[in-house]
Amino acid sequence: FNTERFGQHILKNPQTAQSLRPSDKVLEVGPGTGNLTVRILEKAKHVTAVEMDPRMAAELTKRVQGKPEQRKLEIIIGDFVKAELPYFDVCISNTPYQISSPLVFRLLSHRPIFRVAVLMFQREFATRLVATPGSALWSRLSANVQLYAKVDLVMHVSKNNFRPPPKVESSVVRLVPRDPPPPVEFAEFDGLGRIIFGRRNKHIHANFQAKGVLEMLESNWKTWASVNDVMIEDDFNFKEKVDQVLLDTGFSESRAAKMDINDLLKLLSAFHDAGIHFA
Ligand code: SAM
Repeated sequence: FNTERFGQHILKNPQTAQSLRPSDKVLEVGPGTGNLTVRILEKAKHVTAVEMDPRMAAELTKRVQGKPEQRKLEIIIGDFVKAELPYFDVCISNTPYQISSPLVFRLLSHRPIFRVAVLMFQREFATRLVATPGSALWSRLSANVQLYAKVDLVMHVSKNNFRPPPKVESSVVRLVPRDPPPPVEFAEFDGLGRIIFGRRNKHIHANFQAKGVLEMLESNWKTWASVNDVMIEDDFNFKEKVDQVLLDTGFSESRAAKMDINDLLKLLSAFHDAGIHFA
């Protein structure tokens, strides 16, 4: 990409410009030759840039060499997904789209919690991140991300802004982590999501009938029961137990397509109260 213009756009956009403060430590993922980096350096206290390609990193090093910005920039050469991350207030990234999902979840699990991230993604991915319950794109991804962060669309970026133009359209999203994060284990929330978003327009109770689901949950439940010294009755029927939780919560005939984060958390908590776990 020739991202010179993107760099100008993104930092001039009022929502993004407001996101950066002179005292900020910024994490930039995939700086490339540093078109965006040099602009962030003008506005922030410090930038740590994680770049996988050593040639790009060398070019970026050269670009700031001997300039006052040099001491404000640290470059980590390596894969963002594996690199040890420093403290940061703001994350900015325009990286290849294959790492979109790992990027988002790595950021959301990072501690201490950062203030804001401004991220460019392939448009399809971005619109799924910002989708609301009841809309066509509301999915397990939307729920998993919105459990931990408020996500807004900052702007669409046409592929014609890049030279040469890539095949796909892009969009920039702004992610503000919920602080404190909800007191729920991600694997549990995601585990419930895997079941009920399997067919997001089907009744919740029907999704629990899908192949293997009850078996998996029953096995988790038995582990839980033995750890907690809960006696298992001879005539015990696990399916009835699950159906009872669904009926009690009133979500039995709901559809994941229309459930918001609070609904999902209520359902998860009702299962937990019954000793039923998803991970
Ligand atoms: N951010 C720059 C800009 O906007 O001008 C360049 C963007 S370029 C599309 C993507 C950059 O991300 C490349 O320099 C690439 O080497 C780097 N990159 C790709 N995967 C990465 C990863 N897993 N960790 C760190 N950097 C990565």
